Amino acid sequence: MAVLTPDPKEDAMIDPFGRAVSYLRVSVTDRCDFRCVYCMSEDMAFLPKQNLLTLEELDRLCGIFVDKGVKKLRITGGEPLVRRDIMTLFRALSKRLGNGLEELTVTTNGSQLERFAPELAACGIKRINVSLDTLDAAKFRAITRWGDLDRVLQGIAAAQKAGIAVKINAVALKGVNEDEIEAMIRWSHERGMDITFIEVMPMGDIEPDRFDQYWPLSAVKARLLDQFTLDEIDYRTGGPARYVRARETGGRIGFITPLTHNFCESCNRVRLTCTGMLYMCLGQDDSADLRTVLRASQDNRVVSDAIDRAILRKPKGHDFIIDRAGTRPAVGRHMSVTGG
Ligand code: SAM
Ligand code: SF4
Repeated sequence: MAVLTPDPKEDAMIDPFGRAVSYLRVSVTDRCDFRCVYCMSEDMAFLPKQNLLTLEELDRLCGIFVDKGVKKLRITGGEPLVRRDIMTLFRALSKRLGNGLEELTVTTNGSQLERFAPELAACGIKRINVSLDTLDAAKFRAITRWGDLDRVLQGIAAAQKAGIAVKINAVALKGVNEDEIEAMIRWSHERGMDITFIEVMPMGDIEPDRFDQYWPLSAVKARLLDQFTLDEIDYRTGGPARYVRARETGGRIGFITPLTHNFCESCNRVRLTCTGMLYMCLGQDDSADLRTVLRASQDNRVVSDAIDRAILRKPKGHDFIIDRAGTRPAVGRHMSVTGG
C-alpha cells in the first residue's frame, strides 16, 4: 500500500503557547551498559523487546516529524549505541539530511564510540554529546557502576579523529565531582571540546537521596569565577544550554539549569520513547501513544494528526522541585526512558 504523506508546508507544529517544535529527541532503547547512580538503579527492569518500535518504525516516525518541521534529531537512550543494528537507523535517517532535516546527532556514554565513530561520521553526524562526569577512573566506576573510563576516552578520541565535534556533558554532583570542575573544563578546552554542566533532575525512583547529589549551577558558576573570567556569549545549539566563554582557555562552558532557572520559555523540543510514546515535556507525565496509531495505519496523515493533537497538549513548563521535604521524584519515569 502506498504511504501517504502530509503536505509539509501546512503541517508545522505550533504549541498553544506559540512555540514551534523543531527538535525531536528519540530514545531508541531503554537499555544501557552503565548504571549511573543518578539515572538507574543497579537492578533496573527493562522493557520486553516486542514493546519496542522497530528500526523501520522509528525511521518512518522520524520522517513524519521531519515533514512536520523537525530540523534537529537527537538519538539517545538508554545507551543508543548498544541497540542492535542501530547503524541501520542512522543510515536511513542520514538520507533525510538536507531534505528538511538540518542536523542529526547523538547523546552517548561513549562506551561504543571507538567502534562506531567512523560510521557515524559517514552518516553526516557532525557533532555529538558524550556524557562524562569525572576524569578519575575509580570515581567514574563509582558513578557509572559498570563503566570503564579508558574506553570512553578512547571513544572520544576516535570521534574527534573521525572529524566529529564532541561536547562533554557533565552532571554536577555535590561531593562527587565538585573538586574536578575546573580541571574538566581545562581538559575539555585543551582538546577543542565544549563542556556543559547539568543539574541533577528528580526523575525515577532510585536509591541515593537526590537532594544530597543536587548542586545548583549558580553555585558552580560562582566558584568558577575564582579561576576563570567568564564572558556571556550568544552561542546557541538549539538545546536548552546557555553558554559563556572562559577567557583563560578560549573555550565554551554551557549550563543547563532546569531547577535554578526555568528553561521552558523557549522550549522547542518533544521526546519520543523507544516504545513510541511522545512526551511533550521532560518534566511532566502526559504522553501520547504513537505506536498504536503507527501500527494501525499506513497513512502518515493519520499519524500526523495524532502528533498535532499531542502538540496541543504541550504544557507551559515542568514542575521540578528538589527540597528536603519532597523525597518523591517529580516524574516517576527514569531519564533513560526519554533520554534527557
Ligand atoms: N546513555 C547516554 C548518555 O549517558 O549520554 C544517553 C542517555 S542519558 C539518560 C542522557 C543524559 O541524561 C546524560 O548526560 C546523563 O548524564 C543525563 N542524566 C541522566 N539522569 C539524570 C538526572 N537524574 N538528572 C540530570 N541528568 C541526568
Ligand atoms: Fe546509561 Fe546514560 Fe543513564 Fe548512564 S546516564 S545509566 S550511561 S542511560
